[in-house]
Amino acid sequence: MKILVINCGSSSLKYQLFDMEDENVLAAGIAERIGIERSLLKHTPGRGERVTLEKDMANHKEAIAMVLEALTSEEHGVINSFDEIDAIGHRVVHGGEEFSGSVLIDQPVMDALKRFIALAPLHNPPNIMGIEACQDILPSVTQAGVFDTAFHQTMPARAYTYGLPYDLYKKHSIRRYGFHGTSHKFVAKRASQMLGKPLEELKLVTCHLGNGASIAAVDAGCSVDTSMGFTPLEGLIMGTRSGDIDPAIPVFLMDKLNMSSSEINDLLNKQSGVAGISGVSSDFRDVEDAAARGDKRAQLALDAFYYRVIKYIGAYSAAMNGIDALIFTAGLGENSPEMREAVCDSLTYLGVQLDKDKNKVRGKEGDLAMADSPVRVLLVPTNEELMIARETKEIALGLS
Ligand code: AMP
Repeated sequence: MKILVINCGSSSLKYQLFDMEDENVLAAGIAERIGIERSLLKHTPGRGERVTLEKDMANHKEAIAMVLEALTSEEHGVINSFDEIDAIGHRVVHGGEEFSGSVLIDQPVMDALKRFIALAPLHNPPNIMGIEACQDILPSVTQAGVFDTAFHQTMPARAYTYGLPYDLYKKHSIRRYGFHGTSHKFVAKRASQMLGKPLEELKLVTCHLGNGASIAAVDAGCSVDTSMGFTPLEGLIMGTRSGDIDPAIPVFLMDKLNMSSSEINDLLNKQSGVAGISGVSSDFRDVEDAAARGDKRAQLALDAFYYRVIKYIGAYSAAMNGIDALIFTAGLGENSPEMREAVCDSLTYLGVQLDKDKNKVRGKEGDLAMADSPVRVLLVPTNEELMIARETKEIALGLS
């Protein structure tokens, strides 16, 4: 079975084609600058060299057509015809309260996705465009929606309810949803295999630390709390996002600095986080390098980032009455021994004992805890595309 995984942004479209017999990636790539001049497709066939194909793509439909052309082309193709694609899995950011798992896309699902545009105005519209483009070009192929929010739908009301008038939840769906669910689910499942214990017997804290960052409390395989909220702005300090702040700050910015809602939105999402504190970069590598050279603001940005990670892990350990394992994933989680050490050094009270030699690793799966550490520390590279492909396969098999 061959499955195409699509992840659409407003001007980009990432794709991977999987052969599900061995979960091998047959081809992967990204269409960039869709709807902008000089659009291009970067396509990597299997183990071959990456090729860059330049051609204007006015919209996502033209981008999908170009992806399919590349996948079937004589020079860099990996399949003979579109008929070899058995199903398409789409990453969809927001599934609201309606979707607690992945779904076969049909008209009622499309209607729901359109309703959720109000909740994810930047993300759901390009996701919908990608689905519609595939429906137009490949109308007979099974399509599945895999939601960033779905895994967190198991959160109890006490975790997802804000201290706001209840009517705002009932009338406007304002509550915690959480994001990165596909990644938290993937690494939690993998952790259970690595530990040789069923998920039902494990209390895990999964730390997805990349440019966007979130932490989840996973009890018996179910997300019971997570740091991102109504939007992906809440929680940890991120590359350019503020994470948690006093909710009175935007009001102050409006009243005292005359800032508009869109200026505040831009400030909190694009000019804050480690970039805003350090003034150096949103890329943790640059911030780590600057801190190592003695840049005090860069060091402060890292310290503030670590401190909040440590606080959330403590909070989730309290929420679950202890933890069995801490899992690090995503760009920073997988690649920064310095960050893992700084975090774990403050968690010895929980029984976290990091093996500093084993921690000298980047991007490679492993158990980084001391042999007798009561709490395991796992590095699990995330693979959201593979998770989407697996979920899509389940849905396609359910139809046959
Ligand atoms: P992601 O959003 O998961 O792609 O993660 C991106 C973040 O991971 C960026 O801030 C990168 O700087 C960070 N990252 C990637 N590789 C490294 C590394 N070797 N050391 C520190 N941070 C890294």
